Amino acid sequence: MATQERSVMRRVSVRDALAAMAEFPLRTAARENIAVAAADGRVLAAAVHAVENVPPFTRSCVDGFAVIGADVARASETTPVILRVVGDVAMGKAAPGGLVRGSCMRIPTGGALPASADGVVMMEDAEDDGDVVKIRDGTDLEDHVTREGADVRAGDLLCEAGTIVSPAAIGMLATAGVDRVEVYRAPRVGVLITGDELVPLGAPLAPGQIHDSNRAALCAAITALGFEPQPYPRVADDRSAFDAAFAVALAENDAVVISGGSSVGERDYTPAVISAAGSPGVIVHGVRAKPGRPAVLAVIGDKPVIGLPGNPVSALVVFETLARPTLLRMFGISGEPLPWRATLRADIVVSTHLEHRIPVKLTRDANGLVATPLFGTSAHMHILGLADGLVVIPEGVGAFAAGSEVDVVPYTRRNR
Ligand code: AMP
Ligand code: MG
Repeated sequence: MATQERSVMRRVSVRDALAAMAEFPLRTAARENIAVAAADGRVLAAAVHAVENVPPFTRSCVDGFAVIGADVARASETTPVILRVVGDVAMGKAAPGGLVRGSCMRIPTGGALPASADGVVMMEDAEDDGDVVKIRDGTDLEDHVTREGADVRAGDLLCEAGTIVSPAAIGMLATAGVDRVEVYRAPRVGVLITGDELVPLGAPLAPGQIHDSNRAALCAAITALGFEPQPYPRVADDRSAFDAAFAVALAENDAVVISGGSSVGERDYTPAVISAAGSPGVIVHGVRAKPGRPAVLAVIGDKPVIGLPGNPVSALVVFETLARPTLLRMFGISGEPLPWRATLRADIVVSTHLEHRIPVKLTRDANGLVATPLFGTSAHMHILGLADGLVVIPEGVGAFAAGSEVDVVPYTRRNR
């Protein structure tokens, strides 16, 4: 074990902050085995391979006659070939026997091809006379069947670990005979809300008080990511109360998110409380990003701890920026959400010494997606509620002109 004193990184970029965190292993979420039918929205804990060939037998993809190719090779409109009809293929059953030269079988779409048949003549190219049939076109026989395993072969990789299961993926897995999958259980995330000024939603406000909005918003964001939030009673701005509350939250959860108290004010105890609770402790305190400057990234044992600024806009944006990628590591997921490409409706002008995140509203015009920046200070919570995502202006850039193409990073939401 390293005994060297590790210094806390300060005022680093978001990228460097996450890279510094990546040096510390985090616990992996526990797994469970569930029915594929119940897996929508869950994260796969292991790769999934096909159990069966798809289709599981060679089958017709038209209504028609299963034939031997050599019998019908020269069939045409003017010189039809006459074949004996020796049976009917029924859906859900093996063909009633095979074919010999000069014979054929009626076959429906989805029916199993009889042994020794090479393909199927479409109903439209045949004249069914009961015991015999006149074949007028013997070409493209093979195109009218789907060979066993042509779609998927047993053993093929269907989904990588870390895939978020969608209804379409459920359909694919079920088709390939997969009935159960390994998924991650939702890790528990303790939510500690600090601040003497906060009162619960529904309670009246006395002068100087505000409603605690971060508890509801952060719990919703944590749930939407696939985790189980565990909110605790409000923590007063008091060091010993904070130490005690944090000890409980840390012991009872797989990760902890703290709102407020992460700045450098006299009563901003978050970094000190985390450091005192164990090692490696605080990895990053302060990022060169707006919102987000006072953020804290920490690890205790193998549990991540993220200190968010209390300001509601900052808390949620920093949750997206730093907490989301950190928590998703517990599911083995890395990488950012896929952005939307949109045309900026108004100029964005910001300082060059920080990386900025501007909430935007998306609409559509004749040319595609349009991103309208929602300006306001980070105290203007309403701008966040109207936003669909964030535009990131990298450090040093300072401005994006109206009319330019930008990436909009979507907010975490349920059914993403
Ligand atoms: P702090 O990060 O604790 O210094 O708080 C920064 C600002 O955010 C202050 O104006 C707080 O009143 C406000 N704030 C802190 N926590 C919350 C919360 N849970 N809900 C709403 N506003 C908050
Ligand atoms: Mg506070």
